[in-house]
Amino acid sequence: MKQKKFLLPESEIPTHYFNIQAVMPNKPMPFLHPATRQPLKPEDLYPIFCKECADQELNQKDAWIPIPEEVRQQYASYRCTPLVRAYELEKALGTPAHIYFKNESVSPAGSHKLNSALAQAYYAKEQGVTNLTTETGAGQWGGALSYATKKFGIDCAVYMVKVSYEQKPYRRSIMQTFGAAITPSPSMSTRAGKDILTRNPNDRGSLGCAISEAIELAVSTPNCKYALGSVLNHVCMHQTVIGLEAEKQMELAGEYPDIVIACFGGGSNFSGIAFPFMRHNILDGKKTRFIAAEPYSCPKLTRGKFEYDFGDEAGMTPLLPMFTLGHSFKPASIHAGGLRYHGAGVILSQLMKDGYMEAVDIEQMDSFKAGVLFAQTEGIIPAPESCHAIAATITEALKCKETGEAKTILFNLSGHGFVDMGAYDSYFSGEMQNYHVSDEDLARFIKSADDLNK
Ligand SMILES: *Cc1c(COP(=O)(O)O)cnc(C)c1O
Repeated sequence: MKQKKFLLPESEIPTHYFNIQAVMPNKPMPFLHPATRQPLKPEDLYPIFCKECADQELNQKDAWIPIPEEVRQQYASYRCTPLVRAYELEKALGTPAHIYFKNESVSPAGSHKLNSALAQAYYAKEQGVTNLTTETGAGQWGGALSYATKKFGIDCAVYMVKVSYEQKPYRRSIMQTFGAAITPSPSMSTRAGKDILTRNPNDRGSLGCAISEAIELAVSTPNCKYALGSVLNHVCMHQTVIGLEAEKQMELAGEYPDIVIACFGGGSNFSGIAFPFMRHNILDGKKTRFIAAEPYSCPKLTRGKFEYDFGDEAGMTPLLPMFTLGHSFKPASIHAGGLRYHGAGVILSQLMKDGYMEAVDIEQMDSFKAGVLFAQTEGIIPAPESCHAIAATITEALKCKETGEAKTILFNLSGHGFVDMGAYDSYFSGEMQNYHVSDEDLARFIKSADDLNK
């Protein structure tokens, strides 16, 4: 019998996060204070984030950051996650490629997001913080943080993008089950939300707006900090447990990936699977290709512009050097809610600029077609976000079929889609559509960032 799953015992849960900043040939450009335009210091972030996260955010020195024992203990309820050889998918495609996936859907929250949520909740508790606020798009991050805060005895308030609040009522229930308080965003409970609703009472929200609301609550409430589920450097770093495990598991399988693929919202699960392997490209001359799969309707890496922009719609965050569609970008209401963010993480943007990674854009219908094939072959119904990674993997596997090359492809299955069956319904009923963004529309939104770089 051929070995399908490559498993590691709990004792192999990584002891350190990998901080790629320390080995990047070109360090990320500094975050800028929005008013003074001066480079940010960790202290500037302390009012918003936990101290440890703020320090990690700007740490360009230490390649390895110890994972607290309490966090490893919580990881033990679902890590190490399985690495799986997708034989059935390979067979269905008739490809000579070897396809592996790292299954992050097995976490209590159903996605990779818990890897950072547990770390952030722990650091908050250590610092004496009693409340965390956050935003959530598809509800995955909110679910993860709700669970993580429960584990460490912290109260959690979640602003959920209104379109997802309506599309994904069960994600809301999951957060409630784990004990969080949920508000649809934009809401009238913050100035940021009020401003947006006054301009357009029918606004259905965006991650950018929900972020503004959560930050506003955090800075105006004592003992309350803000936690972000993607984009930021410390979040991307927490996710490297994925790739560090995968590295050992690929070794068990006797292979090394030629191509590593993940879907891309702000970049955290991509960072998680990619950075540990990318360090060998940077340090040891390996030639692995890294492919980020983003939605066609939110194409920051393929059609965005590298420049300073705000991380949120209301312009409350520092200025970040990143590939962006402009902080005023209004993404279409695709079902992959976690991929509807206007920018790419700062580290990822620099790596993209320096040619260490590539990006492809995937049409919504193609992503679901790929997801359905994966479900029928491998037996896991993927999250709509993860479907993008699968679609990109299938494209590469079919190229191998043409050339006859048996490449080794590793992709990250960022989450399962059990709470997204409404999206699958829409695909099967023929209601689903693709969303195209014209160059003119993109240019109009990107101008909101251009204006900050004058
Ligand atoms: C949030 C989410 C994503 C996108 O976020 P990244 O930070 O880019 O990883 C992808 N997949 C799932 C399942 C998610 O919940």
